[in-house]
Amino acid sequence: MTLQLGCSILFFGVRRQQLKTVLQVSKGLENKRKAPRVTPVGFFICMTDRLKNIRHFALDLDGTLYLGGRLFEATRPFLATLRERGIGRTFFTNNSSRSTKQYVEHLTHLGIEAAADDIFSSTHCTLAYLREERPEIRRVFVLGTPALQQEFAESGFPIDEANPDAVVVGFDTTLVYDRLCQAAWWIAKGKPFIATHPDRVCPTDKPTVLPDCGAICKLLTHATGREPDAVLGKPDPRMLRGILQKHQLKPSDLAVVGDRLYTDMAMARSAGAMGILVLSGETTREQADAAHPKPDLIVADVGELGRLLA
Ligand SMILES: [Mg+2]
Repeated sequence: MTLQLGCSILFFGVRRQQLKTVLQVSKGLENKRKAPRVTPVGFFICMTDRLKNIRHFALDLDGTLYLGGRLFEATRPFLATLRERGIGRTFFTNNSSRSTKQYVEHLTHLGIEAAADDIFSSTHCTLAYLREERPEIRRVFVLGTPALQQEFAESGFPIDEANPDAVVVGFDTTLVYDRLCQAAWWIAKGKPFIATHPDRVCPTDKPTVLPDCGAICKLLTHATGREPDAVLGKPDPRMLRGILQKHQLKPSDLAVVGDRLYTDMAMARSAGAMGILVLSGETTREQADAAHPKPDLIVADVGELGRLLA
């Protein structure tokens, strides 16, 4: 593995536990490889140096802290490590089917302490986009769950299905044909077409496929001949800009922890934040090794990351 130039490789400054973790990870990597490769100790030490300067973690939820309804064993100890070390965290997600309040309830139910202020979803990103970049849009048709519609209405964007300024499409788990037709009508009429996020499917541990906002938008595009005018959420860098502004952080203060290369890691890179890939969700070790560009750090799960921080 290529060592990152310009990074100080201070072997004598490494804690025993960090070095043990590095060697364990290296050993694990070597076992999976057919050809002998250079042990990436220096790379990991560079990254643990960089980790020391991180003030805030943007934590993806599904595939990173839990999968569907199952909390990973390592999640609570990892969050406790962040708390003990005074490092901030924001839970961030593309899933716009739940409201902020529902996320707080969901996380609390899973055993994760969370307040409304700790959540940043593609809904928040879309609301910020409308406020900052589309002042002409006020009244919206929301093709989304009642929770999403309510969040827009409570955030100063009244629902108007008779003459909206724009159509906002979210992950509508309550989708019905009639409303799909209405959304297509307004889009065909030329109203701004805005997607909360691009995901084609939502991860699940159940034997089913959950078509997500990206798939719903594709249907509308096929019906109307129009692509969305804006697609918010990950990997759009606006998603991180909201967290940076809210906590007054520089990109170098922030690390994104997530399980997807093309959303979580792509967004971290485009925003100049550290990208930490966990292998507890969608991405396999083989995909991570083959990725170009590579994430800044690859760990098995947040437990591994917690040990590097301890
Ligand atoms: Mg994820």
